Amino acid sequence: MSRYDAAIMWFRRDLRIYDNAALYAALKSARRVYCVFVYDTQILSALERKADRRVEFIWQSVQALAQELAAHGGQLVAVHEDARFAIPRLAALWGVDAVFANHDYEPAALDRDSVVADALQRAVQPVAFLTRKDQVIFEKDEVMTLSGTPFSVFTPYKNAWLKKLTAYDIKAYPVERYLQQCAKPPGRWPTLALSDLGFEATGIQTLGIAGGMQEAQRLFTDFEQRMVHYQERRDYPAVKGPSYLSVHLRFGTVSIRQLVASAQRACQKKANIGAATWLSELIWRDFYFMILHHHPRVVGQSFKVDYESIQWPNEQKLFKAWCEGRTGYPIVDAAMRQLNQTGYMHNRLRMIAASFLVKDLLVDWRWGERYFATHLNDFDLAANNGGWQWAASTGCDAQPYFRIFNPITQSQKFDAEGIFIRKYVPELAACDRKTIHAPWLMSSIEQAASGLVIGRDYPAPVVDHARARLQALALFKAARAASD
Ligand SMILES: Cc1cc2nc3c(=O)[nH]c(=O)nc-3n(C[C@H](O)[C@H](O)[C@H](O)COP(=O)(O)OP(=O)(O)OC[C@H]3O[C@@H](n4cnc5c(N)ncnc54)[C@H](O)[C@@H]3O)c2cc1C
Repeated sequence: MSRYDAAIMWFRRDLRIYDNAALYAALKSARRVYCVFVYDTQILSALERKADRRVEFIWQSVQALAQELAAHGGQLVAVHEDARFAIPRLAALWGVDAVFANHDYEPAALDRDSVVADALQRAVQPVAFLTRKDQVIFEKDEVMTLSGTPFSVFTPYKNAWLKKLTAYDIKAYPVERYLQQCAKPPGRWPTLALSDLGFEATGIQTLGIAGGMQEAQRLFTDFEQRMVHYQERRDYPAVKGPSYLSVHLRFGTVSIRQLVASAQRACQKKANIGAATWLSELIWRDFYFMILHHHPRVVGQSFKVDYESIQWPNEQKLFKAWCEGRTGYPIVDAAMRQLNQTGYMHNRLRMIAASFLVKDLLVDWRWGERYFATHLNDFDLAANNGGWQWAASTGCDAQPYFRIFNPITQSQKFDAEGIFIRKYVPELAACDRKTIHAPWLMSSIEQAASGLVIGRDYPAPVVDHARARLQALALFKAARAASD
């Protein structure tokens, strides 16, 4: 027997119908489940660009989810409102007993949820707000050190995570058995077009990006065949090495349990370094969610407090050159142009570009973090903040601050032929594999031969790496000395 007569399933970062913890709980507990998605005006109105790839991705995913639910006799009601008011309003309108949702971990989302929970509780007919873990395998306090404190370094966290993992943690929720409980709520609920939200189409399909869980499955099926090669291919931006699933993980069009279960199966079958390495990346994701939960101050502050006092020179001109992909360092420029043109940036390039901004251009990591946050399709507060603090040596990293990426040797190693650089920096198309990584070193005769004049067709380097490196080291050293 169902515990509730009617309930709302509030979809957020979990835009899928299969293996969804809160949807499963709602369907198991209520006779009728009304499905809702809120295009939250609080979030959308803060976005600077009206052609935002993320909004189009979400919109496509919501359309796809609506179709799936309709095929099972349900309906996805999508509204464009402030979620803090929309959910209590709909709960009262439909007279539901409970609202189900999956856990969110970002401070703004937690504030929103507490306002919603409060409003539901204070309603004339109080409504329960019930949440489930879904986005991660282990959350909050589930993986702790033996002394009961949170981990601050990845490798011991990963070991403890792997030790804790059982088949139960990655078992899929059999949502499909209960989908007949999905119901159509009273009233007329028109479908919203992208333009109703005040946004424009961005043409993400021309970049090969599409929302929805079927697209996520297509990408994953493709990656599953390549998983065995992940370790040897993942660092080369011109090679199809990674899964490209991050935007789907971000919006929950794919289940983390499904991915971990697949990697785990591949690891168990035979020694599979590719699958083991990919599993590690998925654990990094849990790790940064855990860090954000235990140390919400990382939003805006260095994880390592010693480095909070660094006086970053923050030269606007250098920051602008970095944003535009015009630093004169080809690998950095190719990375930034990939981000600007597609909303994706390869992981190796995120590390190089972030290190370059902080340790070559001496710009505060928070500036770069913000730029990535507005441009990455897969922007995720926990992973982005973790990645930036890692690159800036202010975060959870066992390595000391003197690890500074050399943008030339990184380029020679990871894009040896310059294939990736040529794709995004066509000005350098005529350079050969030797000169493309540091084209300013070409003589004027070589420049003339390749039809390229440095300073005219492509910028001269905006800083000297060797000199900038020493300046960065001095900044970190001074901050350390001041805190001793
Ligand atoms: C400066 C910087 C900023 C970053 N910002 C983000 C961000 O906003 N959102 C985001 O999802 N990832 C971020 N990352 C991590 C990583 O670069 C991306 O997850 C990855 O490039 C996405 O591509 P993929 O899906 O093909 O990854 P794959 O290599 O196929 O990895 C699979 C999944 O594992 C997770 N993952 C992989 N590496 C990491 C990592 N280092 N930290 C946390 N999770 C990881 C992602 O969910 C990814 O989709 C950032 C890294 C750096 C260095």
